Amino acid sequence: MTSVATTCPYCGVGCGIRAKADGKGGVAISGDKTHPANFGRLCSKGSALGETVGLDGRLLTPRLHGKRASWDTVIPEIADKFCAAIEAHGPDSVAFYVSGQLLTEDYYVANKLMKGYIGSANIDTNSRLCMASSVAGHKRAFGTDTVPGTYEDLEEADLVVLVGSNLAWCHPVLYQRIAAAKAERPEMRVVNIDPRVTATCDLADLHLPLAPGSDVALFNGLLAYMAETAEIDTSFADRHVSGLSVAIEAAFADAHDTAEITGLDTDTVTRFFQLWSGTRKVVTIYSQGVNQSTSGSDKVNAILNCHLATGRIGQVGMGPFSITGQPNAMGGREVGGLANMLTCHLDIEDERHRAAVKEFWHSPTISTRPGLQAVDLFRACADGRIKALWVMSTNPAVSMPEADAVREAIRACPFTVVSDILPDTDTALLADVLLPAAAWGEKSGTVTNSDRTISRQRPFLPVPGEARPDWQAVCDVAAAMGWSEAFTYDGPAAIFREHARLSAVAGEIGKDFDISGLSDLSDAAYDQLAPVRWPVTDKRTGGRMFGDGVFFTPDAKARMLPLRHRALAAETSERYPLRLNTGRIRDHWHTMTRTARSQRLSQHIAEPYCEIHPIDAERQEISPADLVAIKGVTGQIVVRALITDRTAPGTVFVPMHWTARWSSNGRVDAAVAAETDPVSGQPELKGSVVSVSRFEADWFAFAAGIEQIKPDRISRLGYWALARTDRGWRIEIAGHGQPDWLELARKLLGIDTEARAVSLIDAEQGTARVGFVSEQGVSGVLFAARKPVRVSRAFVIASLADQVPVHKLLAGRPAADQLDPGPTVCSCFDVGANTILNAVHQHGLQSIDEIGEELGAGTNCGSCRPELRQLFARACRPMAAE
Ligand code: SF4
Repeated sequence: MTSVATTCPYCGVGCGIRAKADGKGGVAISGDKTHPANFGRLCSKGSALGETVGLDGRLLTPRLHGKRASWDTVIPEIADKFCAAIEAHGPDSVAFYVSGQLLTEDYYVANKLMKGYIGSANIDTNSRLCMASSVAGHKRAFGTDTVPGTYEDLEEADLVVLVGSNLAWCHPVLYQRIAAAKAERPEMRVVNIDPRVTATCDLADLHLPLAPGSDVALFNGLLAYMAETAEIDTSFADRHVSGLSVAIEAAFADAHDTAEITGLDTDTVTRFFQLWSGTRKVVTIYSQGVNQSTSGSDKVNAILNCHLATGRIGQVGMGPFSITGQPNAMGGREVGGLANMLTCHLDIEDERHRAAVKEFWHSPTISTRPGLQAVDLFRACADGRIKALWVMSTNPAVSMPEADAVREAIRACPFTVVSDILPDTDTALLADVLLPAAAWGEKSGTVTNSDRTISRQRPFLPVPGEARPDWQAVCDVAAAMGWSEAFTYDGPAAIFREHARLSAVAGEIGKDFDISGLSDLSDAAYDQLAPVRWPVTDKRTGGRMFGDGVFFTPDAKARMLPLRHRALAAETSERYPLRLNTGRIRDHWHTMTRTARSQRLSQHIAEPYCEIHPIDAERQEISPADLVAIKGVTGQIVVRALITDRTAPGTVFVPMHWTARWSSNGRVDAAVAAETDPVSGQPELKGSVVSVSRFEADWFAFAAGIEQIKPDRISRLGYWALARTDRGWRIEIAGHGQPDWLELARKLLGIDTEARAVSLIDAEQGTARVGFVSEQGVSGVLFAARKPVRVSRAFVIASLADQVPVHKLLAGRPAADQLDPGPTVCSCFDVGANTILNAVHQHGLQSIDEIGEELGAGTNCGSCRPELRQLFARACRPMAAE
């Protein structure tokens, strides 16, 4: 088998991958050394992709109302239902909710069908949750949705400012590129602006733990400081910027309160201002901490204001840089996959733009106004305005704010189609029609990453069962609706060529997105297409944008906006005293439909948790590892408490990934209110108000087994969280009453009656230790107590199926002469924290590179290096004190 060059399906870095299938279901993954996004690097998620491509649990045939059906049945059914709704209630009675996971070609035809043929703009995407505020900010400032810089700028900068971006965990390869650049040029400075102490602080010379939602005040303060200290580049601003004076005037109105609003001390703020204004080559990277806010668009423009006022844009090593969350969020923006965009960055409200697109598509109609944005789209499902909904490649029943209400809204919609690779996502379970989609590794098309680089995703596995690529499913439905001529393509290359030709029309109108130079690619050339940064025209290819100071506004000038700090939508109160921040963790992706299939990725953090400050924990009498109930205005979740000063007093952090498939009540977005930015429609996913209290249970237990653990075998569990391990499965549970431990353990772990049980049960103390032994060794264990169970999970899991005597395993810890590896730090080589600390002490290791040489940790993907550094510092502390 030869290796195939393709692109990672996770984050917006867009790393190139070499994938080599062995023909027996296995796939070897490595970084593509020639790809300009990563030059061979991969993070833990990308490295583990080979573990996620199996057909276990895949949806392989269409289903109609839960029953197997053929494509010949479901395509007319979908077409009939959509046509009937349109005929009876008009085009705005139907909607598509799509995804940054789609390839550009999928996205293009879905958008064409909805806007150009159905005649509604009710197509929105999960990118609304991710970067709509950046789109709005770019359009307001530049006239188009343009990311000006390139990844090389991040390495060339003398100052990298990260705002609301835990790059080390969320975009690890970019983090590694910056870390490598800083190692080469130690004079390079990094500032991390984030309310939390994250792994990204490891690289930072300065951390600004600003109050949630106060970014506009901070950057207004910076702009005012630069105006005061004559750092404004008036020569650039006079020629290329409008709105300078009003923006500065507004900035001054916030400036004397900057420290108070941001909660930062004046010295730290001044140090940041001096660093920023005193460094010419500044890149400001921003991500979800900026975008996911009711003032997200203003935050973006506050950052852009500072770059525009000082001419720090479009030149080597300088500029604002929005990092996208998803692999093809940018591609979705290019085709107009948001409800307020047309296609190729054209404007839906502009009659000339609409006419040009309609003519190009030879379409019978064209939507004349923006459609429903994500939050409103699901509200319209709930109140009956949407009669037919098609969800593609995303899981809104988990990822949308007010997730419980969204789940009910989808349930209430008279007809719902879901295209996915799995039949049992939280959203797929609500579908009337389930369409089996081709998965990463089976699909062919293109994606665009955060620096405008278009890359091919190439198939290296056959499409299994009756699965189809999404573009094909969309075209099949369009044909059944009567538009076969406009939706007949012989493959993704044909769609790409049409998209590129349409971009030429946009280019002639004066838009930035122009890839007309790729309009005539043959199928073979498309197959071979090397990564290329847009624009691609007969005049230029790639490069930085705005280096000439020409913007895509009517007067060719960029626009600075007068902005003022606005408080977060919800205020804390006695009832909801804490602010809830949500985000990603290192080794999981979105709603875990892929990453939870990998035992390696499930080791790092195996349970949903809440970071809570010691002061808040004490106030609520919460102890380490307690379960906590987090109540928001719209819903409640239960997760494990992690008491840490990484999060500020008054705030809690909960990861976004857990679903009903992997936890009983870990869907954090159920507790997030759907407040949105008035300009971008992006929800505030980092600023809801909540209360946190200890979750009371009569008992707590941890179990691990070889066979799949099924929590639904046990009725009335108060809490559970499930994960894979390298030996099988693990689960944390809690409940009420007095269970029969032997029976519960046997049922939960799926142990047959042949297996011998060994148990130590103390009813008075409320403790239980149960093990099952078969010929292969210990096949399952359960530990229970009245408090959260304190056993070494790593030791217990590692001992399963080994010939470890069960009585030793039931000790829950290794013998005194054995090392408990501790929680996993390096997923690639399965190295635990205790193993690392022990090696540092026993072998006198002097650096994380020496840890790598000794244990392998941190030498593959490098995603754990920030944690290694923290551990190393911890290991050195007592030695330094001696
Ligand atoms: Fe994939 Fe990691 Fe690269 Fe993101 S940084 S594209 S998740 S390998």
